Amino acid sequence: MLKRIKYVSRFDKPLSADAIEEIGAQSQRNNAAMDLTGLLMSSGGLFYQVLEGPAEAVDEVYGRIVADGRHTDLLLISSENDVERAFPDWSMQTINLDAASHVRLFPLKALIKAVFEQGRLMENMMWAIERTVQHEMRRDD
Ligand code: FAD
Repeated sequence: MLKRIKYVSRFDKPLSADAIEEIGAQSQRNNAAMDLTGLLMSSGGLFYQVLEGPAEAVDEVYGRIVADGRHTDLLLISSENDVERAFPDWSMQTINLDAASHVRLFPLKALIKAVFEQGRLMENMMWAIERTVQHEMRRDD
């Protein structure tokens, strides 16, 4: 069974283009050995990643990614089971959207920023829903 996750995060500290490339190279090495594929984009201090493959491998690698000190504020945007691969040929295509060589992809920078910001907004709204319910239910006790 194949699983696919998508998440956004932000750099913990500024990362050089070389450091981003190193994350991509490390990912490609590991993913190829675990039958994982996907896409990793960086833009304006944010990451956007799609990781797909056997469910156990996705969960194992995502666990390592969550614990990686190079980024923070991870927000899992989607997690799907029984999927077909969207990126079967890419063990982890890594694209630094801040590099001039990707000028035709520049419009994606605003979309990644919007996904990150909307995600934060949704988290805040969910927090407000849960706190309000707790507060109201306590009043009724
Ligand atoms: P190795 O690859 O052998 O690395 C050795 C050790 O060095 C690991 O503990 C590693 O965490 C650490 N390390 C290496 N460079 C640095 C550094 N600059 N800063 C801190 N620690 C470092 N890994 C994948 O396998 N697949 C992915 O798709 C993937 N995507 C990632 C996406 C993002 C945005 C980030 C930040 C990391 C990603 N990683 C990915 C890396 C992952 O978080 C782990 O670092 C990696 O999987 C560890 O692999 P390993 O145990 O085989 O160690």
